[in-house]
Amino acid sequence: MYAAPMTIGGRAVPATATFDVKNPSTGATIGTAPNASLADLDAAVAAAQAAFPAWSQKPDEALQQACLAVVETLGAHAEELAQLITLEQGKPLNGLGSRWEMGGAQAWAGYTSRLALPMKLLQDDAQGRVELHRKPLGVVGSITPWNFPLMIAIWHVLPALRTGNTVVIKPSPHTPLATLRMVELLNTVLPAGVLNCVTGDDRAGSIGAAMAAHAGIRKIVFTGSCATGQKVMQSAALTMKRLTLELGGNDAGIVLPDCDPQAIAEGLFWGSFINNGQTCAAMKRLYVHDSIHDAVCEHLVAYAKTVPMGDGMAEHNLLGPVQNRMQFDKVAALVADARKKGDLLLGGGPGDGLFFPATLIAGLKNGDALVDEEQFGPALPIIRYKDVNEAIRYANDSPNGLGGSVWSRDITHAKQVASQMECGSVWINKHGAIQPNAPFGGTKASGIGVEFAEDGLQEYTDPQVIFT
Ligand code: NAD
Repeated sequence: MYAAPMTIGGRAVPATATFDVKNPSTGATIGTAPNASLADLDAAVAAAQAAFPAWSQKPDEALQQACLAVVETLGAHAEELAQLITLEQGKPLNGLGSRWEMGGAQAWAGYTSRLALPMKLLQDDAQGRVELHRKPLGVVGSITPWNFPLMIAIWHVLPALRTGNTVVIKPSPHTPLATLRMVELLNTVLPAGVLNCVTGDDRAGSIGAAMAAHAGIRKIVFTGSCATGQKVMQSAALTMKRLTLELGGNDAGIVLPDCDPQAIAEGLFWGSFINNGQTCAAMKRLYVHDSIHDAVCEHLVAYAKTVPMGDGMAEHNLLGPVQNRMQFDKVAALVADARKKGDLLLGGGPGDGLFFPATLIAGLKNGDALVDEEQFGPALPIIRYKDVNEAIRYANDSPNGLGGSVWSRDITHAKQVASQMECGSVWINKHGAIQPNAPFGGTKASGIGVEFAEDGLQEYTDPQVIFT
């Protein structure tokens, strides 16, 4: 049994109350996490506030070196953290699983550490000199979801630290252990109070909600559902917090008629089923041209049948369980409804425990729940279209606008279609391939602001202009 402490002000804080953390592959309790009180949160915010003056006044080079020490620590403990992710999240160690997640965390941390926001000279002439400086905000509150617990934590924490902020992070109650351990490890190379972690079970009042309203926190970076993101935005208004909200997606993929169905099958599958579909920018609806629809379905089914699903700790598995019962029930209900309306090509029924077989359902249309709602699980609806403008209209007919993809051998045509899609990122002949040097964020209800690259870094600062 793993009993992880919270880290507040550089010290391990023993829990006065705890909650159980379960392995979704087996249902077994693998550890306990502290159920923080509001006093614990206040202590974490106070520790981060106390650490802020010294941290924010460090020379830029020293901040960069401290962030690079974080990268090294992640690397040294990558396998331990990957195993913890698999145990509590369910994703396999292998494939696009927890080792891959740790590789991503290190890559993002490294890239972000090496970024900088130097002073920008806006004017320097006989009329005067105008300098644009970027100043850290203070304490940043990070609230993370359960699908990529450590990669998303790093997406939040590294740009905050790199720009001179201090942090209080709160992971999802479904996956608190890897984050608690990571913060404990990173505190061996960071000054006390710079990075603090609190956890709560969300039952008797949410620590996340208290963070969004907390007067000592200057910014919330939140990744999670649209509904919770709206609550965060409402609470944050009272203290005029800065916000980055990375919310849900219902990404569409559009397959144009010139594609080779066999050649794209693997890319389509992983674009949709990465992390069992529990990925914000996974392909959640697939629009396929009538002329190749049946062939695409056939090759997709053939590829999907080759992908082993099972306990993530077994080295050969490439798909794991759905992470929690609530999500499983949601996927099961959407699939049950879709089976009545469309043609089941593969999967369809709940398996053992939280394992839900990879499911492909054709014959659906906009208006069907599996098409309109974010399933966030291993079930892909396939929609036949005849005219590309019709497909673009269907793809854009969604309150969300996170990502999208276009599949074609004609890159010029694909880019023309991509430019008409209402979303923050569009990939051509792949889906969801985010990278640390490109800003990532949602349009419409999928969020506010961006992460990654210089644009993402700027969101952890306020501009200050000095006129002389
Ligand atoms: P969720 O909204 O249920 O929970 C996210 C976090 O918010 C958790 O830490 C939770 O404890 C906390 N929380 C709960 N109530 C809160 C409140 N009132 N105020 C503040 N925080 C509160 O989301 P989830 O189920 O963990 O994650 C799945 C969702 O996240 C999906 O919709 C998915 O698309 C989205 N997501 C988006 C991105 C992205 O980058 N856009 C990435 C991953 C996941």
